[in-house]
Amino acid sequence: MNNREDIEYFKSLSIKKIKEKVKEIKAQLPKEEQNVITYSKNFTLSLSNYCQNFCSYCFYNYKVPKVSGEGNVILLDNDQMKTLIQKALSYNCKEALLMSGERPYSFEEVQKELENRNCIDFIEFIKDICTYLLDLNLLPHSNIGLLSYEELRDLKNYNASMGLMLESTSMELFKKGGVHEFSPGKLPEKRIRHIEDAGKLKIPFTTGLLLGIGETLENRVNDLHLIKKIHEKYGHIQEVIIQNFVYKDGVQYHPENPISIEDMLKIAGIAKLIFKNEIAIQVPPNLISGFEKDFIEMGVDDFGGISPFTIDYINPNMSWPQIDDLNQICKRLGFVLKERLPIYDKFIKKSEFCPVSIKKRIESII
Ligand code: SF4
Repeated sequence: MNNREDIEYFKSLSIKKIKEKVKEIKAQLPKEEQNVITYSKNFTLSLSNYCQNFCSYCFYNYKVPKVSGEGNVILLDNDQMKTLIQKALSYNCKEALLMSGERPYSFEEVQKELENRNCIDFIEFIKDICTYLLDLNLLPHSNIGLLSYEELRDLKNYNASMGLMLESTSMELFKKGGVHEFSPGKLPEKRIRHIEDAGKLKIPFTTGLLLGIGETLENRVNDLHLIKKIHEKYGHIQEVIIQNFVYKDGVQYHPENPISIEDMLKIAGIAKLIFKNEIAIQVPPNLISGFEKDFIEMGVDDFGGISPFTIDYINPNMSWPQIDDLNQICKRLGFVLKERLPIYDKFIKKSEFCPVSIKKRIESII
């Protein structure tokens, strides 16, 4: 089937039909894996919200006036960072999510702060933090915007896995009034290049779609196929996030009709039909609260990183669920909620995806 036929086929499928097909796919897993939903106990180090782009749905960017929650961060203070890391250890977190705006070092303020801390550049700054984390048996997962091949290569041995959302390759979003009008870093060729480079470097990788930002069903299906194609070539994608845009005060983008839960369910199910059991389908549990059962029935495998104490910096109005509560929900459905590491088991087993520096730490953790 080509993409066009695929889109028509998926359009014709009812949610009920997708659920049936998803069940057949899950049944192909070993018995002990069929009723398992995973998550990673993590915490976030929001390193800088200075960003070269300005996506109109973004709350995180330093240009967005914050009415509540966290303020702007040029470069996260060392003492604050250490306090957060100690707290993470007390909660027994295994993953440290390092996030920042895209190319924050293109701003003079950030550059100056890096100099004050005797860091050669932003990548060295990240490497220093990762080294500190790894020494404490915390596994870094960096998602810090577009990086060059060399930057990705430099960071590989310091990260258990890395990530970059594809979001959407729709060029409509770059037109006047589109959400990516002022976001050169969101150009599809740049995102694809980054994801492919991570593949060439054999970095276990997370990507995904952001839904409800002006894209169509066709765009969504095409983008899922695109991710599949990249994965077929490099084999490095461990999970695909299906994330919905949620409005919050302060952001410019405020669609009249936000994406419906039915559309979200449908695309999660379609993702499962496309990726089968090769790549995990992930939804952020704080954005689909109340519909966990439906998403599990649509083949969702993973609830991503859940923090016991840091906020969702992208959606600070949507608090993380308690792991115990999520556990109960899964139990009621006959599923088991199981903690995983930021690098999936199948990649830990492959030395080319899991360098010695990371393997050593994983052995200490487990
Ligand atoms: S969504 Fe990401 S790239 Fe876009 S403005 Fe926000 S931080 Fe920058």
